Amino acid sequence: MSIQEKAYAKINISLDVSGKRPDGYHEMIMPMQTVSLCDTLTIRREGEGIRARSNLRYVPGDERNLAVRAAKRYLEAIGEEGQGLRIELDKRIPVGAGMGGGSADAAAALRALNRAYGDRLSREELTALAAEIGSDVAFCLVGGTMLATGRGENLQPIAPLPPCHIAIVKPSFSISTPELFNKLDRAPIRIHPDTTGLIEAMEQGDLQGVCRRLYNVFEDVDDRRMRSIRQIKGELLDGGALGAVMTGTGSAVFGLFEDAEAAARCCAKLKKEYGFAFVAESVGTLL
Ligand code: ATP
Repeated sequence: MSIQEKAYAKINISLDVSGKRPDGYHEMIMPMQTVSLCDTLTIRREGEGIRARSNLRYVPGDERNLAVRAAKRYLEAIGEEGQGLRIELDKRIPVGAGMGGGSADAAAALRALNRAYGDRLSREELTALAAEIGSDVAFCLVGGTMLATGRGENLQPIAPLPPCHIAIVKPSFSISTPELFNKLDRAPIRIHPDTTGLIEAMEQGDLQGVCRRLYNVFEDVDDRRMRSIRQIKGELLDGGALGAVMTGTGSAVFGLFEDAEAAARCCAKLKKEYGFAFVAESVGTLL
């Protein structure tokens, strides 16, 4: 057995936090979109245990790797826990970027294994397994364009992003998700995005309307790195983006362009400056 699967990154078109739950999790409101930037997984049946190897040496190969955890849970769920698996990860999604790289790999492992084992789990069973592995894994499993709420595991289909080119830029620093949530908890959120208006603009195919409503509550936390984030957003807008916003808890920022050439030109410039830049397109449902 040798199976390949693409693990597509996500962006948060906007991100709101409406409160904190008694269990400590935050209530999220996130219109999300799958984008064409992706890792590639190759899974082979081999040896004992489940291990991953990747082209990035700092990505763990043991159970700290979400793809390994997903594969283990999958084999347990179908009663094949004795199987040995090797997962090769060709990582293209930047790590610690708010693009759900680890979650995408976990979701891709679930899709690939379910295919290889003859669809032994239903779509509902697979989604439930995904949600147990991590908050963003359920979205990464199904993909497309969804309004994710709760911890991010409640998914409701919404209209896709109007046609546009998505220039993604990541500065050399990464941002830890728990650290940013802690900072968010220290002060009240002053501004919330207009999620309803954003979804309506998407339904109408109104890219300008979407771009006016891009907003992420994490950009307003007291963290000096947000100065760099604002700087990158400014450069994307100067380069012709109609709107720009940070995705997830950063540190990647994306800008939406109507014009493909302007997106490519801006991306080439920002790649020299920040190290990572990529023009992606929207991707539809994966499962
Ligand atoms: P999110 O948007 O879900 O917060 P992120 O894009 O900020 O995620 P990831 O790229 O998923 O962050 O990586 C965060 C951490 O997860 C890394 O420090 C890494 O050690 C760990 N990790 C576990 N599995 C993977 C994986 N398959 N690929 C990359 N990182 C992984």
